[in-house]
This record gives sequence, C-alpha cells and structure tokens, in this order.
Amino acid sequence: MIPESLDGNNNPSFVLRSINDLAFEDRPKPVLQSPHDVLLEIGPFVVKEPMVLGHEASGTVIEIGKKVTSLKKGDRVAMEPGVSCRRCSACKRGTYNLCKEMAFAATPPYDGTLARFYALPEDLCYKLPEHVSLQEGAMLEPLSVAVHMVRQAKVRHGDSVVIFGAGPIGLLCCAVARAYGPWKVIAVDIQKERLAFAREFAASATFEYSGGTAEESAARLIEDNGLGEGADVAIDASGAASSIRTAIHVLRMGGSFVQGGMPHADVPFPMVEACTKELTVRGSFRYGPKDYDTALGMVATGAVDVKRLITKTVAFEEAEKAFYEVKEGKVIKLLIAGPSQGT
Ligand SMILES: [Zn+2]
Repeated sequence: MIPESLDGNNNPSFVLRSINDLAFEDRPKPVLQSPHDVLLEIGPFVVKEPMVLGHEASGTVIEIGKKVTSLKKGDRVAMEPGVSCRRCSACKRGTYNLCKEMAFAATPPYDGTLARFYALPEDLCYKLPEHVSLQEGAMLEPLSVAVHMVRQAKVRHGDSVVIFGAGPIGLLCCAVARAYGPWKVIAVDIQKERLAFAREFAASATFEYSGGTAEESAARLIEDNGLGEGADVAIDASGAASSIRTAIHVLRMGGSFVQGGMPHADVPFPMVEACTKELTVRGSFRYGPKDYDTALGMVATGAVDVKRLITKTVAFEEAEKAFYEVKEGKVIKLLIAGPSQGT
C-alpha cells in the first residue's frame, strides 16, 4: 500500500510480482553506488503495451555524487533507463545498446522507475530546458526508440518512407522521419482511427491494410501513393508478419528496410525478393549514442510534439487500472504522476 503521507524516505513502488499480479510495495530508498550517480525524485511515468513497469520517466535531481559535474540539485532531467557495462566489445564499438551486461530498468532483476526515487549515472540524465515539461521528458524514451529506427534506415532528404504500425512508436517514427525532409511519409495500419490520428500528427499519407497477399498490398500501396518503382525506405514498427512481408515487397531496387517492432516469433521472410532487389536489411534495438540528445533536440525545437501522444495523466494510486486501459488499447499513451505529485 502507499503510505498516507510521504516522509523523506518512503519509496512507494509499483511492481509486477508475477504476470497479472501488480502491487504497490515500499522499497528501500536507493543509495548512490558511484560518485558519478545522481538520485532523482521521479516525475511522471509513461505506460504502454507491452506492460513494462516504468522504464520511461523523468525526474528532479535531489542528491548528487561527489564527482558529478553536469547536474545540480533541482535540475529536471529525462532518464535514459539502461546502464551499459562500458567495457565490453559492443560498448567499445559505440553500440552500447547491444551490451550484454546492460542493466535495464524494469527488466528483471532490475527495478523499474515506477517508484518515488531512482539512482542513475549523470551521463544518462538529460537536462530539460525550462520550456520542456517533465511530461515531455518522460516521452523521450519512446521518441529515442523511434530516432534509432529512423537512423538505422538512413532516411535522406527527398526519400519516400513507409512506416508499418501506427501505435506510439510508429507514430513517433513518422514524426522523426519528417524531420529528415522526405518526399512522403506513409503510415500503414489496420485501424482507421489510428490512421486518422497519424495523418493529423505526422504522416503525409496513410494506407489501410485490408488483407490479401503481401504482393497485392504492396502493389496497391505503391499505386495509391504514386511510388513508381517502390519506396526508398520501409520501417516496421508493428512486428506483424504481414507488415514485414509487405514492407519487403513495397521497396524499390536497392531500398532499405528496418525491423524495429518485435515479432512474437520468427516470421517467413521474402528472402528471394530481399536478395534480388539487393535490399539493405537492418534491425533496431532500443537506442544508442546520441539518440536521446537528438530526441531532446526534436522536442525542444518543436520538431516533434510528443504532448499530443499523451492521452491522459492519472494519479500514482491508479497505476494498476491505467496499465489495463493501455493493455486494452483504450489509450495511446498515458502518464502516471509520481507518488509526490498531483495530476
Ligand atoms: Zn557493455
């Protein structure tokens, strides 16, 4: 249970004990493990499907380690929730998102950020300019996922870009891709309402997937949008097998495909098409160097308006109900206020 009133040290936390067993627990207040760490009082959390307990958050610095130089008490920051080992070959190659020793918030055995306090190294805290809210700061996590996906696709000025899946990540991919000055950004989904929102939010056109083979869907998508020999770039943010196959067929010769959505299992892949078109096929996993900086820049300059994706903010005590609303697809993204905040 959440204590009636918060003294200096309660750390009410929302935890997933086992599947469908969500509970509030009072966890110990974290102590700084390194002189480079800072202690944060958490602001709002973002909830999304699949149910990950609080890995998207922002907060206010309340204590700093002895060697912290870039932050001070009272700074408001967005939190990058994964701490890499910094020593392995993946880290040294500059791909720390691929670190096998990554301690990622809300991935067992690590606690999520859905608590009152959280300790994090200073270089994973991104100071928010005054005009950027904590709510927007909490949205930098999904935005960074989208930034990484669009970077992996190497979108260039004048490209035609097709994005499969108009959930939060797909929508953010549309917005990030727009910032690269493409010719067209086409959002694909099976839900009309999502496509209507995508068009209003960032897509220049939309395509409603309505069955048929991947070849047929791709041909119709190309025809409807005047893509000629095919799209330059296709990004999958859905993980759906039909989307992945359609994406391969929608690309032009020498086009580029990025898989960002996580399929539930391996999917049959049109490898002959990928081979004969000489496609560039890349995966995308979380975010790496400079992705958070880019995401913050896009929010700070107004290039991406993440506020529009937040359907509503609820109180910490309503976290459980909120998770189920997101799970049922009733809202796109929803923020949970920190234990010490109102809504
Ligand atoms: Zn590493």
